[in-house]
Amino acid sequence: MRRFAVFILFLVLFIVLTVPVMAECTEKLSVDERSLTESQKWWDTEMGLYIHLWDPFTLVELPDQHWFKVFELPGNVYALFEYKQSELVISYLIPGEKSALLWDTGLGIDNIRKCAEELTELPIIVLNSHSHPYHIGGNSLFDTVMCYDIDSAIEELTLGISHEKTVEYFPPDAFIDPPEDFSPDDYSIVGKAPTATVEDGQIIDLGNRYLEVFYTPGHDDNSIMLIDEENRLVFTGDTWYPGPLYAFLKHSSFSDYVESMKIIKNVIEQRNIQWIYGSHNGIVPGTELFFETAAFLEDVQDGDFYNYTIEDDHLVYSMDDFITVELP
Ligand SMILES: [Zn+2]
Repeated sequence: MRRFAVFILFLVLFIVLTVPVMAECTEKLSVDERSLTESQKWWDTEMGLYIHLWDPFTLVELPDQHWFKVFELPGNVYALFEYKQSELVISYLIPGEKSALLWDTGLGIDNIRKCAEELTELPIIVLNSHSHPYHIGGNSLFDTVMCYDIDSAIEELTLGISHEKTVEYFPPDAFIDPPEDFSPDDYSIVGKAPTATVEDGQIIDLGNRYLEVFYTPGHDDNSIMLIDEENRLVFTGDTWYPGPLYAFLKHSSFSDYVESMKIIKNVIEQRNIQWIYGSHNGIVPGTELFFETAAFLEDVQDGDFYNYTIEDDHLVYSMDDFITVELP
């Protein structure tokens, strides 16, 4: 009987201690489940995988902000997370002393400039990690927009994405509870010619904060990485994040991808990088999963890993619950 009483006591303690934590997590990133249609159940599946990755970070309360969830990250960086669209895109605001850099402008569903200006009074310059539509959506809202100095990036930023094309990229059910002035039926991304370009090795000075650009093609031919050595951070764009990594797209090259992973690996080792901020899904603490992925890609390239499935005409190699590498 006494044992039973001790068991009940532990059970009560467990519930008292864990339930508030769980409640806090769901409060940070949640949607109204009752309003989800059958084809919007992707939210449960996707967020089931990634939601806990956001637990360590502090949510910034912005009373007028309903589309972006903003988190404060180590190294004086804000993540602007679009958690109610199936791509789960992350843009980053990196403040210096004279200006702030916005690494990508998201999907263009809500006004990212308004959100960023609630976080900083500094002038904001935009730099795109690459030219895919999920990352250039708000470019036209800004005066200064930069990308890597290559024709494909300059052309795609300038053109934007017509509604006919956004329909291919964004099925209507991929938006949950978007802002009132947004409609998937006429969604397009307004083009903006870049006002400057960056090169491999270029240092961007934000005022006592220096960011270094590295050219890392593979996912896209204009993909770049950003290094903040002093704060021990790298921003890897779509080259690495926890999730499906795409090397089968229009301007992808798998051999370039593997080489770029080696470049990032060297930077992480030589500069003692602690945090990797990628552009979808969530943030994994430490660098271990990245190193595993880099080794896995080399195995796939060397033909040492044979297991793959075929989905939508491309090959999917699975490393673990998080990481797949997808080839043509
Ligand atoms: Zn991409």
